[in-house]
Amino acid sequence: MKELVVLSGKGGTGKTSVTASLAALAEQPALADCDVDASNLPLVLDPRLRRRETFIGGLRARIKPGLCTACGKCEELCRFDAIFFDGPGNGRVPRTFRVDPSACEGCGVCAHFCVEKAVEMAPTEGGEWFVSDTRFGPLVHARLQPGQGNSGKLVALVREQARHTAQEAGRRLILIDGPPGIGCPVMASLTGVSMLLAVTEPTPSGEHDLERVLALARHFEIPAFVCVNKHDLNLPMTARIERSAAELGATVVGRIPYDSAVTSAQRQGRPVVEYGPDGPAAQAIIQLWKNLSANITNPVSDHCQPVSAR
Ligand code: SF4
Ligand code: SF4
Repeated sequence: MKELVVLSGKGGTGKTSVTASLAALAEQPALADCDVDASNLPLVLDPRLRRRETFIGGLRARIKPGLCTACGKCEELCRFDAIFFDGPGNGRVPRTFRVDPSACEGCGVCAHFCVEKAVEMAPTEGGEWFVSDTRFGPLVHARLQPGQGNSGKLVALVREQARHTAQEAGRRLILIDGPPGIGCPVMASLTGVSMLLAVTEPTPSGEHDLERVLALARHFEIPAFVCVNKHDLNLPMTARIERSAAELGATVVGRIPYDSAVTSAQRQGRPVVEYGPDGPAAQAIIQLWKNLSANITNPVSDHCQPVSAR
């Protein structure tokens, strides 16, 4: 089974639009939306929910008022200012200490040092994950609760469930809409993938973000492919990004022109290749997919098929 992750280095480059179109063009893929902080792929693929599960994020401290002697040690040691002296009394002391769960980082220091064993560390709900059906294939997606810091763990779970779902459905390709940035969730979305498509835009920040993504690809030894979205907005910058991508060992597989049909398609909740397949952006994505799929069916490292240098 092959896994292709689509990354961008930051949000707003058209990554999800490209992924949705690739989902429409690929032959029976399975899909995974690893942007668990702001899952957008479902908005374009009109999923029918099949399964909903709770994601257990991490541990949070809770003080048992009946055991607390109000010594204050936990408040003194908590580096996240998550403990307050406004808990209920218990017959021995008029007030006890209380943990604010939204401020607690789950480090466990308070539980470790409480001699009364009055602090318990309890698993907390961190979000939800879903398996849905779309007209292009099964989709695994998720929603992390605001303030939860376990997005990498949830991304790993989405990946695992996507593999399971793909196997069940006999799919040979998993298309992954990756998270923005280059942090922990991106690492989790990259681990073990067959190849990476970086979607960038012809701006200085697009160039910088692309370099960071390609550095990650090199580090994990993942074959990397690049396409420049809205390339016609700055042709010299596009050429510069493509040269730099090639120097960093990536293969340029496409340029997508600015096309207002992309926004119209988004408004209708459809991939642009489905909404208006003859438009310039749709045609460019169709060509992009041809270039990419040649590398998916062949061993990537030996058969990279670049778009001719411009
Ligand atoms: S360390 Fe334990 S006993 Fe002391 S205030 Fe905190 S919870 Fe209460
Ligand atoms: S687990 Fe850590 S962050 Fe949470 S209340 Fe205890 S010391 Fe503070």
